[in-house]
Amino acid sequence: MRATVMFGAGDVRIEDVPDAQLVEPTDALVRVTRACICGSDLWPYNQMEDSETGQRMGHEFIGVVEAVGSDVRTVNAGDVVVAPFAWSDGTCVFCREGLHTSCLHGGWWARDGIDGGQGEAVRVPQADGTLVVLPVGEDDALMPSLLTLSDVMGTGHHAALAAKVGPGKTAAVVGDGAVGLCGVIAAKRLRAEQIIILGRHPDRIALAKEFGATHVVSERGDEAIERVRELTGGFGAHSVLECVGHGEAIVTALGIARPGGSVGRVGLPQHDEIPTTMQTFFDNVTVGGGPAPARAYIEELLPDVLEGRIQPGRVFDRVIGLDEVPDGYRAMNDREAIKVMVTP
Ligand SMILES: [Zn+2]
Repeated sequence: MRATVMFGAGDVRIEDVPDAQLVEPTDALVRVTRACICGSDLWPYNQMEDSETGQRMGHEFIGVVEAVGSDVRTVNAGDVVVAPFAWSDGTCVFCREGLHTSCLHGGWWARDGIDGGQGEAVRVPQADGTLVVLPVGEDDALMPSLLTLSDVMGTGHHAALAAKVGPGKTAAVVGDGAVGLCGVIAAKRLRAEQIIILGRHPDRIALAKEFGATHVVSERGDEAIERVRELTGGFGAHSVLECVGHGEAIVTALGIARPGGSVGRVGLPQHDEIPTTMQTFFDNVTVGGGPAPARAYIEELLPDVLEGRIQPGRVFDRVIGLDEVPDGYRAMNDREAIKVMVTP
């Protein structure tokens, strides 16, 4: 079968790889019908050291179940399923607490011999715990929004929860990528009163406003912090959703949190330390977040997608075939596209 393999920074290729197949009795074999490129895929796209064997890619996908192992109970051949960006058993102590990314028997796509989502098919370990059956056909018009449940919408929701968004509160979203935009949707869904998006790309800002952003801050650094304070009576935001991951975004996120406020971090950290500990200590700012347990949120967010209350699929502004994936990485990296969907 064909799948995406990254061999180094800027070097993404579509390669012939061994066919995905059932190995364990708890596996499902899924033919991928929709996948996408993630902002986090751009970190290795810019930084990966050259590798002769390469690295399989992709952790967001929807597909049709082709076959299941003898122990699989909740999914059947022919089901349309969405996979969260980590696989998990659904039964261990952490899964039962809703933290599927810490599953004792789980793991990550495209690592340790597991297929990636940017390919024709995937062997899904722990199929009962990992996959959620979707009550739609494989080409349903809602596919873009359903696909966001594998990562970006769940991640935006996780940022909002970690930032303790609630009715009447001010939420500030750092980053106007797909996760930040989904963070705006999540903040609105959790009934924040004021939603400030920090970003500077006109197309993304326009979408953020349609998703519910009430204010835009396009300044950076200290000026951005100053501007958010002006918009919040001088105090800062109750809830800050940090959706980027690099150092400047973290400094900004911590700098705009109001005393007693919370910062929800979902951007993959590109640094070793959380800065400004003194100020956040004296302001009693809570810093939380991490990889979203997207699996835990799919059932909660699915009705809102199916009934059209949220439309996170609007973050996709380009659809490509598998052969065009290398150019899809380039387009996202050049900020030509917000988020790229792949139809293998
Ligand atoms: Zn588990």
